[in-house]
Amino acid sequence: MQKMIMIKYGELTTKKGNRNTFIKLLANNIKSILKNFKYELVYDRVRMYIICDEIDLVIKKLKNIFGIHSIVKCYKVNTNIDDIKNCILSILNDIEFNTFKVETKRADKNFEIHSMEFSRLIGGHILKNIDCKVDVHNPDLNIKIEIRCEGTFIYLNEIPGLGGYPVGIQGTGLLMLSGGIDSPVAGYLALKRGIDLECLYFESPPHTSIEAKNKVVKLASIINSYSGNIKVNVVPFTKLQEEIYKNVPENYVITIMRRMMYRIAQEVVIRKNLKVILNGESVGQVASQTLSSMIVINNVTNLPVIRPVACLDKLEIIDIANKIGTYETSILPYEDCCTIFLPKHPVINPELEKCIEYEKRFDYASLIKDCVDNIEVITNLEEEQIDLL
Ligand code: ATP
Ligand code: MG
Repeated sequence: MQKMIMIKYGELTTKKGNRNTFIKLLANNIKSILKNFKYELVYDRVRMYIICDEIDLVIKKLKNIFGIHSIVKCYKVNTNIDDIKNCILSILNDIEFNTFKVETKRADKNFEIHSMEFSRLIGGHILKNIDCKVDVHNPDLNIKIEIRCEGTFIYLNEIPGLGGYPVGIQGTGLLMLSGGIDSPVAGYLALKRGIDLECLYFESPPHTSIEAKNKVVKLASIINSYSGNIKVNVVPFTKLQEEIYKNVPENYVITIMRRMMYRIAQEVVIRKNLKVILNGESVGQVASQTLSSMIVINNVTNLPVIRPVACLDKLEIIDIANKIGTYETSILPYEDCCTIFLPKHPVINPELEKCIEYEKRFDYASLIKDCVDNIEVITNLEEEQIDLL
């Protein structure tokens, strides 16, 4: 018998026409996350198998890959009754249990015994050899047998995968990543739907510190454990931000600053041939995220702006941040360019005409060009997988 990992595909199995593309991409994503391991990977339209020595470490990595429904540590034997019986007894020898249930799936219809009958036959063999009972409703052990053309697979527990779509199936979007709680969660949710990410971070040294930037890189590294491809584009935002504060009435500075951020994001999307802008805005959370503000800010671009956490409560966002391991880093107390010189009364119903008027007061187009021309790109991020409870 051979020990291996079996992967059951997630939602992608419902996409009939695209199925092969999805599975191929999932296999590539797995290969890139497992680049430091020795293993053999084979797959077909229903299952993927990984044969390797470091099974537990590989499973830990697989837990962060989207497009997987469940991960199973399993044993493969030749499809004959004695081999299956022996394999099951040898697995059960190492386990303490009182009750069990056997479930058989017969995908290989050439195998002559029907599923129910085979489950009963194996159950009888277990009862003869081990002091235990059958419980079909709430067993200590659920013993699963899958009889497939390539062999028979035996396993006990399924580890739930993350579900979602393989990262990259939708192309790549540009995530506005700050050091806050919301935007890393937005990034995670985007990855889950198959959107790969580049990140865009606006820094304003000396008003913002190197620690603030390192924190953003660290957050990007954590969400990179779900992708493997993430880069961080750091925009030198100081000059433009200072011009805004010099020229724009205090209550409008945040609105105008965010319009500038969107313009820069759009330019980066175009230059890098990305698809959409993503961010961590959540409706009503702060003055710049009222619907009225969003309309005026969004007005500078025709690109779709995806806001994965738009309709989540802060507590719901925090729950996800905890689940994916970004929360502890997000709450480190470093200033962001949005929080320095925060106006006392930012406008919550900004007027587009006023924005346009204020923006005429300085040459923002050339400042934006400088910002984009001087972006620092950070590549080869770590894939910092957080050990979750
Ligand atoms: P918090 O969790 O404290 O709300 P936040 O990251 O959501 O933090 P907001 O001020 O609410 O901060 O900003 C809304 C969105 O704008 C962020 O989610 C992020 O997508 C984007 N953003 C804000 N500041 C920056 C920045 N310095 N660089 C890149 N994107 C930013
Ligand atoms: Mg926010």
